[in-house]
Amino acid sequence: MTDFAATAADLDAADPLGHWPGRFVPAGDDLVAYLDGNSLGRPPRDLPAALDAFVRGPWADRLIRGWSEGDEPWMDWPLLVGDELAAAALGAAAGQTIIADSTSVLIYKLARAALSLSGPERDEIVLDAHNFPTDRYLLEGIAAETGRVLRWIETDPELGVTPELVAEVVGERTALVLASHVAYRSGYLAEAAAITAVAHDAGAPVLWDCSHSVGSVPIMLDAWEVDFAVGCGYKYLNGGPGAPAFGYVAARHHDHARQPLQGWMGHAEPFVMGPGYRPAAGIRGFVTGTPPILAMVPLRLGIGDVAEAGIEAVRTKSLALTDFALSMIDELLVPRGVRLGSPRDHDHRGGHLTISRTGFEELTPRLWARGVIPDFRRPDGIRLGLSPLTTRFAEVARAIEVVVEELDRV
Ligand SMILES: *Cc1c(COP(=O)(O)O)cnc(C)c1O
Repeated sequence: MTDFAATAADLDAADPLGHWPGRFVPAGDDLVAYLDGNSLGRPPRDLPAALDAFVRGPWADRLIRGWSEGDEPWMDWPLLVGDELAAAALGAAAGQTIIADSTSVLIYKLARAALSLSGPERDEIVLDAHNFPTDRYLLEGIAAETGRVLRWIETDPELGVTPELVAEVVGERTALVLASHVAYRSGYLAEAAAITAVAHDAGAPVLWDCSHSVGSVPIMLDAWEVDFAVGCGYKYLNGGPGAPAFGYVAARHHDHARQPLQGWMGHAEPFVMGPGYRPAAGIRGFVTGTPPILAMVPLRLGIGDVAEAGIEAVRTKSLALTDFALSMIDELLVPRGVRLGSPRDHDHRGGHLTISRTGFEELTPRLWARGVIPDFRRPDGIRLGLSPLTTRFAEVARAIEVVVEELDRV
């Protein structure tokens, strides 16, 4: 039997990103392994001081003047921090990304903006039946609101959306294709460039949900010719619970696509406060209300961390973590009746793995009680989220040993 603890120690010692977990606030002694950084990332050690400095400095001292003065007036933060993320993790040129709202709200805004690009003859919205619930629910509402119909792609729940499956359903009636870059359950990494090209061949724009890839898997929105994209700030970006999301709109759509939440902060002249809405030029027209400046303080740190570590190095570590977890799953869990519900090949593997077995719903609270924190996804999947900047190989080894111990208890 392989000595996985020793292998993990060797991998940690040789890991070029091995110092990163030490740059996050340690959890209490009861935490043995945190395998949910893909759902809620950990707080950086620099964060308490950064928040304190922001409260005492710009907020307490400058007060309302902070919106307009200094090198980085708060009014500019949605675009400024958007550009920082675009450069660090989205492969996008400046001026196309905002930090705002939540992922759900941005899905609504950008899906509606995408629909504004075509007429009523394009009356179908394409999405897959296993996409994250909020994506499905929002499009259900948008379809009802705009008189369109949903065209569902039936994906294999252990895989995800492929160019072939999309090609089967898109056509001259397609108004929008929405898909997740990394599937939230299986971790399947979609071929974003190829799928975008298939949609474009049918004359339809694509909205990519990058919630489970941003900060973990390299994204090349400009090179892939993506139209719209959104993603979460609190997952691999470690922006904290409820961190604002990002929204990307390709520059070529700025003058044509109209988003429906016409608030004063997206107005061409917000402080004129005049009658009638006129969208600001460029990506600013996709902002709605007062930006969450305080919540961007942790998110900026998280984005800075990804920039410093480098997204390619992050991806290399991510694949090494999932490779290591897979070797343990194959040797220790598969013989105990556990099934892998995630792709094996690197080209289609995101940052997390799902393992399935009947009884996992009851097993999960027992793991939590022992300080091993993955999450459970119905019907029978435990998700092992391996966040490259915060997860040690030793944690993975210990977590899977605990799963084995719990499975072996009668
Ligand atoms: C996590 C996640 C969301 C979450 O949206 P919120 O508005 O932040 O709750 C949306 N879509 C996908 C694919 C996700 O993984």
